[in-house]
Amino acid sequence: MKIDIKRMGEIKGQIKINESMRNHTTFRVGGTADILILPKDIEDVQNIVNYAKSEGIPYHVIGNGSNLLVSDKGIRGIVIKICKVLNEIIISENTVTVGAGCLLPSLAKETMRHGLKGLEHVVGIPGAVGGGVRMNAGSGGHELSEVVEKVTILTSEGAIGELYKSQIGFGYRYSFFQETKDIILQVILRLQSGATEDIRKTMDDILKKRKEKFPLSYPNAGSVFKRKGDYSPGKLIEDAGCKGMTRGDAEVSQLHANFIINKGNAAANDILFLIKDIQDAVFAKFNVLLEPEIIFLEE
Ligand SMILES: Cc1cc2nc3c(=O)[nH]c(=O)nc-3n(C[C@H](O)[C@H](O)[C@H](O)COP(=O)(O)OP(=O)(O)OC[C@H]3O[C@@H](n4cnc5c(N)ncnc54)[C@H](O)[C@@H]3O)c2cc1C
Repeated sequence: MKIDIKRMGEIKGQIKINESMRNHTTFRVGGTADILILPKDIEDVQNIVNYAKSEGIPYHVIGNGSNLLVSDKGIRGIVIKICKVLNEIIISENTVTVGAGCLLPSLAKETMRHGLKGLEHVVGIPGAVGGGVRMNAGSGGHELSEVVEKVTILTSEGAIGELYKSQIGFGYRYSFFQETKDIILQVILRLQSGATEDIRKTMDDILKKRKEKFPLSYPNAGSVFKRKGDYSPGKLIEDAGCKGMTRGDAEVSQLHANFIINKGNAAANDILFLIKDIQDAVFAKFNVLLEPEIIFLEE
């Protein structure tokens, strides 16, 4: 596959060739991407998608890589990374317009400073807004979808479109975006007024609890499996005796069994095998097949 950057049109953002995906995933694993581009603006994203489509080159969009397991073989084609770019926040009364690349904790803190509540629960989620909306991220019984009003997308046909919340099919850690190649560019949120100090206190409490509960000192990608009905995957995994189980440098966290941590040089394959080991052990003991929440990105 030949990727001719010059034919993409003028790309204003950063272009990285043969880029290790370890640098772009919180698991710190994965092979190289043929090309990874951090677009500077929406026009860059359009140029990349139009070029990829016309040449039949595969493309993938990622945010902060905090819910991703990228294959050791890497990614063929173009990776478009929308994180800390396209990250403008515009606040007008209770309406917040935010670029897909804004990190959720930054957005939560900025809205807090403006006396707006509704995003406290994402203050410790290390994803970008686009990845967060696609995953309908959330914590403590809350989901991002509660405050989403409208989403601006770039379709796989290269057209800009807008979708209202009712058209997005949000569910638990789910949105229709998981079935499409739509790229989320911008999101409009509707928040409620609140007292900055109260919101700050709630956020501090959330961050403190997460620090105690989650193994944040090792690379990881958050919860590995989705909650299933009344079952907490962490409890099932712990009761199936999987805590501390390893494959290479990948380990089922001793602190929180629904986390896999990379203790140093884990390969994506180690993590994949460990995921299978956990599924087998939980199935053998409880007849429950755990469904991964983590997204696998392969060639
Ligand atoms: C320590 C830790 C704690 C976590 N805690 C939580 C938690 O409490 N709750 C929770 O829900 N999650 C949690 N996560 C998981 C993760 O942070 C969320 O799923 C987050 O929303 C992913 O965002 P991202 O930008 O990193 O997306 P990525 O991981 O980069 O991508 C996730 C998916 O979204 C797609 N995507 C990314 N950006 C776009 C875009 N602009 N347009 C279209 N598709 C896009 C990707 O193709 C991929 O399929 C945690 C992760 C870590 C590491």
